[in-house]
Parts: sequence; C-alpha cells; structure tokens
Amino acid sequence: MKKITGIILALIIVLSSVLPVYAQSEHNPETCTDVPVLVIRGMDFGGLYTDVGTDTQQPAIRADLKNIVVNAVKGILLSMINLSFDPFVESVADIAGGIFEYIKMNPDGTSKHNTGAIQYPLAAMNYEAFVNGVDSEYGMIRAMIEEVGDHAYYFNYDWRIDPFVVADEINATVERMVAETGHDKINIACCSMGGIMTLAYLTEYGYDRVNRVCFMSSTFCGAQVCSDLLAGQLEIAPDTLYNIANDGTKDIPVVNFLMKVLKYTGVFKLASSLAGKITDEYVDMVNDKVLNSVFGGTLSFWGLVQPEDRQGAIDFIMKGKPEDYPDLYPKVQALWAMIDGRNALLDEMLENGVQIAVVAHYDTPLIPVFEGASMNGDGILETYQMSGYATVAPYGETLGDDYVAENPEYLSPDRVVDLSTAILPEYTYIIKGAAHVGGSYGTDYSDFFVWLMTYDGEDFYAGVNPDYPRFMVSGDDLSLKAFD
Ligand SMILES: [Zn+2]
Repeated sequence: MKKITGIILALIIVLSSVLPVYAQSEHNPETCTDVPVLVIRGMDFGGLYTDVGTDTQQPAIRADLKNIVVNAVKGILLSMINLSFDPFVESVADIAGGIFEYIKMNPDGTSKHNTGAIQYPLAAMNYEAFVNGVDSEYGMIRAMIEEVGDHAYYFNYDWRIDPFVVADEINATVERMVAETGHDKINIACCSMGGIMTLAYLTEYGYDRVNRVCFMSSTFCGAQVCSDLLAGQLEIAPDTLYNIANDGTKDIPVVNFLMKVLKYTGVFKLASSLAGKITDEYVDMVNDKVLNSVFGGTLSFWGLVQPEDRQGAIDFIMKGKPEDYPDLYPKVQALWAMIDGRNALLDEMLENGVQIAVVAHYDTPLIPVFEGASMNGDGILETYQMSGYATVAPYGETLGDDYVAENPEYLSPDRVVDLSTAILPEYTYIIKGAAHVGGSYGTDYSDFFVWLMTYDGEDFYAGVNPDYPRFMVSGDDLSLKAFD
C-alpha cells in the first residue's frame, strides 16, 4: 500500500513538473488550430450567494424552516379564527417573500443585499467541477476541456442584474482569454439566459473578438415566461396542467391512463379554476409581496419581455407610471433598444464573417403557471423565442395538414415547426424531444455540441455536416438522429 502511494506520488511530481513546460513550449497561437471556447451558462437560480468568497458565504435562497413553520401555523390559525382564507394566503406570500429576501433587487435594478455569483476566472480545466462535469453546461465545458484543453473557459454571472453590467464582465473574460491563449478570436456557446447576456456583450463591445456564436436553447429573442411574469399574465389553465401531468407520467402506463381519465372527468378544469380563483383574488397581494419586490427590479427579466408585452409590463409592475422609476426605467429602455437592434446586428456579424448557429428544442410541455404555457417548448423555455421566432404549433398540436410553409424545406417533418419566419433559418437547428440545454457529457448531443464549437470549415449553415441535419430527433438519453 505504502509502495503504491509512493509510486503515485512520484508520478504526480514528475507529471506536474513536465506538463506546464510541455504546454508552454509547444503552444504557438499562429499554428494552433484550437479556437478558444467560452461557455456562457444559463440562469443558475439557486447559484447565488451572499458575501461571495468570504467566510460567511451562504446560499442566497435559504429556507429558514422555523420561520416557515411559524408563519404557516400562524396563517392557518388566523384563517380558522376568522373563517377566511386571507391570512393563510398572506402567510404563504410572506414565506415566499422571506425565502427570496436575499435575491431581492433595489428599485434601481441593483442588488438589495451583498449577493452575487461565484466567478471562475482561470481556464476551466483548473476547476474540478468542470473536469468532472456531467449535465448541461457542466457536461458541455467538460467536453470542451477534453477538446481544447486550457483554451476552454466558463462564464458564470448574477442572473438578476443588468445584462449590460454582465456584458462588462464577459468582455473582461474574453480579453483575458485572448491574453492567456494568444489567439485573437474566440468561439462562444451561450446557453439559455446566457443568450441575452451575450447579445448585450455583442451590442456593447462588438464582435472583433468573436469567430463564432452558438445560441444554445437561448434567450436571444427573450422568453414568454418572463414576459408573462412581468405583465402579470399568470394563470393555471386546465390544458397546460394536463400536458405536464401527461408528459410526466408517460413512462408509467397505469398512472398515465389515470391522467387521461382525470382529464375527461374534468378534474384538471376543477383544479385550474380553484387555482384561478385564488390567483384572481390574491393577485395584488402576490404581486406586492413576491412578484414586484423580488422580480420587479430584475433587469435580465425586463430584457426578456416581448415587444408586444412591454406596455403590459409597465402597467403591471410600474402601475403604468414609468416616471416613478427614474433609475430603473432608462435601463429597461436601453435593453429594449438592444432587442430592437438585434436582427440588424446579427446580419452585420454574418456579413463580416462571424459564424452563427441557433439551436432550439421542442415537444416538452412548459410549466403551467403562465398564459403562454400552452406554447411548445423544452420544459423551460418556448421554442418560438429560442428558435428566433419560427412559427410553432401549440404543444401537442401541429400546424395542420393545410398549412403551407413559405419554404417547404423549413417545415419540420411532423408539421410542428416552420423556420420560414425565423430570423436566421439557414443557421438554425431544431431538435424534437431534447431537454433544455441538453449537453450532457458522453451523449450524441455532446458530440453535436463539440462539432458546433470545433468545426473549422468556411460554411457553417445548418446541415453542412450530414451527420447533423437541420431537423433532428432526440431520445431521452440525448441520442440524436435525423428527422425525416
Ligand atoms: Zn492555441
């Protein structure tokens, strides 16, 4: 045992003395064909901390069990004494407000508390979590480390704050990558919320440093769920409730059959009308105690609001008076101007040789709490926005046998997604059944991702590699095959 430990120790010493020398002496950016890769992650809801990097660092979202129990019991007792539901709902809203206290924002869109995200300034291979990554962004960065070694970097951020502030941090990361690797240009993979953050970076700092951008299940065209949240369009509809119950039980035939029975006996309608009554009656309280104080100043969410919902968000969160928000509103307007300039910026990038890919998924129901939840999606975000505004049938439906696509090549074989209306149809991949940010390590999808980030051809349109056609189908295990 001792001997083996000794040998291993000797090996480690030898390797650690040889490897850095090897890396330094061998790397020449002039001849190196590995383009540095930056993976910009999605929103890590539970990944914020107070006093980051200090001895007192704690998760920002913390459930104080004692506080929850005391409040809940108080609510139930008061409800029984007063024969009214109000105290109970109020205490639930208080509990929710309390759990979210440390992610609340000031009225000017800055953090109320000393809350932030953990940064990873070094090349990703220096962090064990990335070297051993499994799912989503962690699996993606692991695959990138294996492909391009110390040219792979990972960007994390506070998902609540102004995308233009995050853009400054992205720029600092990109410049550090350029300095450390010696390469002039990098490739960016931006996942989910990382889409709007990357758009802010490109808008503010341009694309001189960018060779390629891949928008992976991303928010570069906003998100209906945030649009509805800020515009107060919350609802629990029977169909969306059924969709998620049906999808969640599809592997358990007996329960799945029961779900169908429940649907026909109207149970989902009853549940939804009960929930609807509660939401209608208490919408102002929930708005004041939770929505407005937690998400009202979350600038990233404001940036994701759809153009047609802007007035609704002003009416709901700002009570129709943006002049009462002199610090927040100009930042919101700057984000909306960025969104309005997005298509022109992307066109300009393509004309100047930047390569772009958009990857979006469909066929998984959305969380049934907002008006847009009947849209098709990947379980988290809507295919309509992730695809750059393809025409997409509602979840569980098709565009119909009579539907005529402007360009038949852009219609998915199951007639659910038509890319004709998307902003970059030539560069967009549509994958049926894949999970949100589906980059799990060791899967077909991971191989596709590696190809997207490392392929060195001149042409980068969707389908240039026959292994990865524009329309693909994913298994639950992220196996991929052509959809035709
Ligand atoms: Zn290199």
